[in-house]
Amino acid sequence: MTMEQSEEYIFPVEHSLEMILAFDRSGIIVYANTAARNKLKFDDDLCGRHIHAVFPNEFKETEDGFETEVTVGDAVQEFVAYRKNLTCFPVEAKVLNDGARPDLYICMANDVLEKKILGREIEKVKTEAQQAMKVKSEFVANVTHELRTPVNGVLGNVRELLAEHPEGKTEKSLRLIERCCDDMNKIINNILDFSKLEAGKFTLETRKFNFRNMLDYVKGNHINKLTEKGLGFFMTVSPQIPEYVIGDELRIVQVLNNLLSNAQKFTSLGRITVEVLKTAQVNDRIELFFIVSDTGIGISETDKDKLFQSFSQVDASISRKYGGTGLGLNICKQLVELMDGRIEVESEKNKGSTFSFSVWVGSCGDEAAAVLAAQPEESMEEEAGEDFTAVRMYGTPENIDSLKRNLSKLILCVEMENWEKAEMFMETIRQLTEDAPHEIKRIALRLKMAIQKSDYEKVTVQFKELSDSL
Ligand code: ADP
Repeated sequence: MTMEQSEEYIFPVEHSLEMILAFDRSGIIVYANTAARNKLKFDDDLCGRHIHAVFPNEFKETEDGFETEVTVGDAVQEFVAYRKNLTCFPVEAKVLNDGARPDLYICMANDVLEKKILGREIEKVKTEAQQAMKVKSEFVANVTHELRTPVNGVLGNVRELLAEHPEGKTEKSLRLIERCCDDMNKIINNILDFSKLEAGKFTLETRKFNFRNMLDYVKGNHINKLTEKGLGFFMTVSPQIPEYVIGDELRIVQVLNNLLSNAQKFTSLGRITVEVLKTAQVNDRIELFFIVSDTGIGISETDKDKLFQSFSQVDASISRKYGGTGLGLNICKQLVELMDGRIEVESEKNKGSTFSFSVWVGSCGDEAAAVLAAQPEESMEEEAGEDFTAVRMYGTPENIDSLKRNLSKLILCVEMENWEKAEMFMETIRQLTEDAPHEIKRIALRLKMAIQKSDYEKVTVQFKELSDSL
């Protein structure tokens, strides 16, 4: 601002990107904002000059002011603006005359070339980004396809060899290769889904399917691992949900599988529950609400925000210990949103987590029959419920019972030299002895160290000591 410029013209417009000039009836410029001063290269001596100096083609200087054919009002017009050094550039401008100050004209102008260049730059960046995204998606699709072919080749051969009923170590190795191939396929599928979702190329495949059969299938996917880990599993389905619904079965299964795999992965003691409710109906569309709860390691308040972002795992030590790509929950979120729903999490560190999500599906209208036939709640329970607090408290019959069960599973794994699984049971045993007397905790610690070192001799000694002390 120059000293000549009156205080009353100091508006927030001073820093506007647009050039703003105010001139009076005699055509004398009384205000010019920073953009105008800089672009017209007048520095501080623009005020006091005639508007004709800036727009000689549009404003003619006369004895009592100026003459112009410019429309005063909202119309955008093309002017040619002249700099102090008499070079010029085209602008888009508006001239306004405020009724409250009839003696004052305001001219707002934009450098057309700059705007055009900027527009072209934006267009160029946009095209480049789209091109890069297309190339990336194609690359990911090709690479994942190329990876899938050899993995499936290995898998097919392994399954053929397994069909020949190999024994002992050979069978164990083949099973391990089979599992590795399955895991690899899961990762490949996740990457492919993620890249399709990111590129907006993901489409849902909607069809009619039997809802309870779908849940049975999901349960079948996890029950072996859950039982192996000694976890309780409960599934409750509201009778208000019709037998058949219309939606993308595969993708609902995918979300449930992901949440259940995580629940199982991050829980070593207690239970996992799944509850499905019908929460709303609009004409023939119903909202299904799924709740998946576990009693696992939980997630802290600060880490919750990171959960649904891509490639995010709560911390590096977790990814080392439990594996995973950190894509699962992000894919779940995007899938659920495609099905007009949302996904949320509630969790407490060391207590457990509850993931819930909703999706909208078409209703096949047979819920009346379902309600008539309904018991208060349809329930598929896999294990008798345990009093979880009693299990955790060292010395209660439930706790000793659970300790014995886990110890016998642990020694079985040791006998089979499956150290990884033995470590899993050891973690449960550690939790079950958390508030045990000092001596017991020390034996448990020695057992844990022996397992970590895969030291068969030491494990059997410590195992016997711990079993005897119960
Ligand atoms: P990943 O494939 O690595 O498991 P996810 O997106 O499914 O990726 O999960 C991201 C992270 O969220 C996990 O690495 C874990 O830290 C956390 N997480 C997810 N589910 C649970 C859960 N049930 N209990 C505790 N932590 C969880």
